[in-house]
Amino acid sequence: MQRIYVDMDDVLCETAHGFLALLSRIHDRSIEYEEIVSFDLGRSFDLTRDEVDAFMERAHRDDVLLDLDPIPGSIETLHEWKHRGYRLEIVTGRPPSSEPISRAWLDRHGVPYETLTFLAKYAHLHPASDFERAKPLSELSRDDYCLAVEDSRDMARFLADTLALDVALLDRPWNRNGEEPLPGQVVRCRDWDDLRLRFPQP
Ligand SMILES: [Mg+2]
Repeated sequence: MQRIYVDMDDVLCETAHGFLALLSRIHDRSIEYEEIVSFDLGRSFDLTRDEVDAFMERAHRDDVLLDLDPIPGSIETLHEWKHRGYRLEIVTGRPPSSEPISRAWLDRHGVPYETLTFLAKYAHLHPASDFERAKPLSELSRDDYCLAVEDSRDMARFLADTLALDVALLDRPWNRNGEEPLPGQVVRCRDWDDLRLRFPQP
């Protein structure tokens, strides 16, 4: 069975919007979605390293994560893919401690999936979290993935360059610019409606 890798934050859930609301609540700071031009929240939210660590700890508590809205078109597309026989594997860079609440969110919104994997995508950015329990990037194998859906430019590059995967990169303010050009196997998609017209390719 063909497998599809689906990221969770800002692919299935409106995480950035949830984090902006939290930023406004706890730091009384108003930043527009389009201003989140870096994956590094210290830069995008203008927080010190200690503030980022505290923010991420707060942001990964149940109340914040469970309240995130689904991204329009995402869950409908997963149902369609499942119906077409694809095996859906959610691969998140969240800390493994968020597993129960992550599964609760997926269940609450009726997301069809086979597995939920915690991959150490961003361990270098948040050393305070419990990423030692996450699967190392080096252990992710190509297997028979036919597609990966991501919003992280670095992860898209890694999946295309290292695993030779086709990657659908959902267009976000934080993935538009980078030092290195994106490999040809990374296709930028405006949103899920755009993505479902192009993938998975037969
Ligand atoms: Mg993401």
